[in-house]
Amino acid sequence: MSTTLTIFATIFGLLVGSFLNALIYRLPRGINVAFPRSSCTECKKIISWYENIPIISYVFLKGRCSGCGTQISWQYPAIEFVAALFAFFIAPKTINSSDLLNFFFFFSVFSAFLVHLIVDLKHQILPDSINIYLALLFLVISLFTQVWTHWLIGGAIGLGFPLLVSWIFYQLKGEVGLGGGDIKLFGALGLYLGPIGIMQNIFLSCFLGALIGILLIATKLIKRENPIPFGPFIIIVAAFQIFAESSFKALISYIP
Ligand SMILES: [Zn+2]
Repeated sequence: MSTTLTIFATIFGLLVGSFLNALIYRLPRGINVAFPRSSCTECKKIISWYENIPIISYVFLKGRCSGCGTQISWQYPAIEFVAALFAFFIAPKTINSSDLLNFFFFFSVFSAFLVHLIVDLKHQILPDSINIYLALLFLVISLFTQVWTHWLIGGAIGLGFPLLVSWIFYQLKGEVGLGGGDIKLFGALGLYLGPIGIMQNIFLSCFLGALIGILLIATKLIKRENPIPFGPFIIIVAAFQIFAESSFKALISYIP
């Protein structure tokens, strides 16, 4: 029984992964998510259902469009694979212990994080729709599992603290430090992580961002004037806090 459920969860992960690919392409370009149907970016050939089967179609088509032969990015099967892998690993811990709601919660958060991560790396934006989706998801779950002070103060700190720091930074240097999308993401996360969790996220993601930024500049992998998207650092820390809660708490206890 548990094996069957894990297989179903993995197939579900593949299908959602395919949808996430559409979001990653469409959201930053402002294209409607539901319509029109997917087509080749080069020759505009409509992709039929059998050319849209996660991973399998990519292998079958040898990674090329059937119309014009243009190479299809490896990102498509990679996203599908990563989503399936996540579902595969969390299924035994959630579904099989008849915790279906937890499976969907974790998978939803993971999906939103994945879209945010790729879109921010490629386009330096965190789409509002994903931030709103996360905020609603976190608010609903916190309403049922936490006291109101947890999500209210957490959300207020997540939104207010980075906004204040940005404002001070702007007054001092005359330039915008944090993007609006980053601040909204902190606000959404605060609803779930609570006051302490969100402060840990803000400090750790800033620390991680500064560290990686200095390393990238020092090794000349990027130039100083090139902007580094900050979203991925927030997401990496948040993923650790949400999906590996006990390991995160163990790690944080080492920090004085
Ligand atoms: Zn084509």
